[in-house]
Amino acid sequence: MKRFDQNTQEIFVVDLNDLIHNKVEFLTGQFNIFFDKEEVIGLYCYDNFVVNCIYTIRRVANSFLVNLNIRVSLPVFCDLCLNKFEYDFNLSVEEIFTTSFEYTGKSEDLYYFIFDGRHIDVGRVCVENFISNLPSKIVDNCKRK
Ligand SMILES: [Zn+2]
Repeated sequence: MKRFDQNTQEIFVVDLNDLIHNKVEFLTGQFNIFFDKEEVIGLYCYDNFVVNCIYTIRRVANSFLVNLNIRVSLPVFCDLCLNKFEYDFNLSVEEIFTTSFEYTGKSEDLYYFIFDGRHIDVGRVCVENFISNLPSKIVDNCKRK
């Protein structure tokens, strides 16, 4: 199990060698990242939690398609009534890593993840997607009572 730390450079790195040399059609696996309950700013958890991620990486020409399924049961306080409950977070994302990237001049096209063409830090892709897709408000079913 990996522990998430804002200062850690690498979280879970996959070597693309077997894909590059056509030894396999795809790479797949899973990993868990341990988060301290106070690690994520804006998320009010009453306990530490573990993010589970299943990844698949395929090669298409000079690009690599990374599919992630991110699952975590978040031990959080309801934003409205402060009740403790488990919020199920489940997200499927696809990211494209390419070595033949052309910069078009628009800032939103800037390549976000550092890519050397041989390794992908799927752990970092997972963490970035997890944090940026958290809902701004986490509410249990108290509204319906
Ligand atoms: Zn509530």
